[in-house]
Amino acid sequence: MRAIYPGSFDPITYGHIDIIKRASKVFDDFTVVLMNNLRKKPLFSVEERLYMIKESLKGMNVNVDIHEGLLVQYVEQNNVKIAIRGLRAVGDFEYEFEMALANREMCPSLEMIYFMTDIKYLFLSSSMVKEIAQFGGELKEWVPPVVEKKLREKFQKL
Ligand code: ADP
Repeated sequence: MRAIYPGSFDPITYGHIDIIKRASKVFDDFTVVLMNNLRKKPLFSVEERLYMIKESLKGMNVNVDIHEGLLVQYVEQNNVKIAIRGLRAVGDFEYEFEMALANREMCPSLEMIYFMTDIKYLFLSSSMVKEIAQFGGELKEWVPPVVEKKLREKFQKL
């Protein structure tokens, strides 16, 4: 069965990767879709984010794609029936619930499936790792080495 995992991945963290590992066991055709979301101002360019995703997922049976625009447009263009998302705390639920209902209005054939975070990653977000990196904190528990390197480089330049 085919499914996609859309997100900004700015940058990808072990929280995302945990979801990807688990979801790709459930779905044999699994694609991470890097959404170029204009609402958020990303720290990393699409090319940088794509590079980090590909490096971090090396050796895994997962496809990677990019999309600029709405999720429902990608879903329609690629005939996707299932999209997965990760859930951490209550805040995620509210946001995801709103998004899911809006997406259902636009694309009733799309089913969203949610994977609960591992408790270890309950408080882990891309924003958190950016903040840690900004102040030179320890990152190796939260992101793969390739992402840590890119974060260090980015904050040295800023
Ligand atoms: P978006 O901007 O689309 O929310 P993100 O890259 O921030 O993109 O997140 C993509 C998805 O991954 C979301 O469903 C988010 O809740 C989930 N996610 C992010 N961090 C974690 C984590 N630590 N554990 C589980 N799910 C997570």
